[in-house]
Amino acid sequence: MAFIELKDVMVIYKPGTPYEAVALENINLSINKGEFLGIIGPTGSGKSTLVQLFNGLIMPHRGKVLVDGIDLSDLKGYQLREIRRRIGLVFQYPENQLFGETVAEDIAFGPRNLGFKEEDVHRRVKEAMEFVGLDYESFKDRSPFTLSGGEMRRTAIAGILAMGPEVLVLDEPSAGMDPRGRREILSRIAGIHKELKIAVVLVSHNMDDIARFAQRVIVLNEGKIVLEGTPQEIFSLGEKIRDLGLDVPPITELVLRLKKRGINIRSDICTVEEAREEILRLLGRR
Ligand code: ADP
Repeated sequence: MAFIELKDVMVIYKPGTPYEAVALENINLSINKGEFLGIIGPTGSGKSTLVQLFNGLIMPHRGKVLVDGIDLSDLKGYQLREIRRRIGLVFQYPENQLFGETVAEDIAFGPRNLGFKEEDVHRRVKEAMEFVGLDYESFKDRSPFTLSGGEMRRTAIAGILAMGPEVLVLDEPSAGMDPRGRREILSRIAGIHKELKIAVVLVSHNMDDIARFAQRVIVLNEGKIVLEGTPQEIFSLGEKIRDLGLDVPPITELVLRLKKRGINIRSDICTVEEAREEILRLLGRR
């Protein structure tokens, strides 16, 4: 069932000025409850603008954004705040927005602001920290500024999670991290999706992450949705994806090359596990 719906949406920055820029055009998109949606596209294609439409941080210049059937342009300030609780948005480099004296205080800010009772706030902070892999006792009293980059980022994600969102939207959550930190963040996000059964929207330049976790992918280019499908459908297009300035996962690249050499291998493969199955099959071991 569609939870967020965009209908013929257009976004223009600085309209009516010489700097006018159409950031998004003709966007029709539904995000379903509980799904894991990946968003990819080259820099400047409109990804960050798109995710800010989901919770009314940006309003479209044309078209509609509906959440749970409600048109966001009809809502008053306090109602929009509730939408922002239900659709939690983790910005790029969210650690820049940490300001609490302790990790627990920082994470508590959102739920406390929403008026939850102190015991609920406490429980939410504890749970959110567990979900992002920060041990409550060891981290609760630390200053956010003494944490590693990855821990800071997980603190920021916990702050959003503690508000109990129905959709968690993450704009490049692993940007600038080393491979270990990236794997840690992504496995936490996958765990949140699986256990809390909330929808996750992941904007990423990392095609391996998209291939492993997204159930559906949309590809943006110059403000338009140009492709939509499963990661297998999208990445097996190979050349078409590269023409947009995007990578395909290395394992898909390998499979596409083998196919080009005349080997009768399936090309709708984008994880190492799928490739392993297919290679074993080719070798007659399955
Ligand atoms: P992405 O996240 O894919 O890099 P953005 O949504 O940030 O893309 O940007 C889409 C387009 O909108 C780009 O052409 C960008 O230059 C323009 N844009 C983004 N933010 C602003 C802004 N605040 N003012 C003017 N133009 C902007």
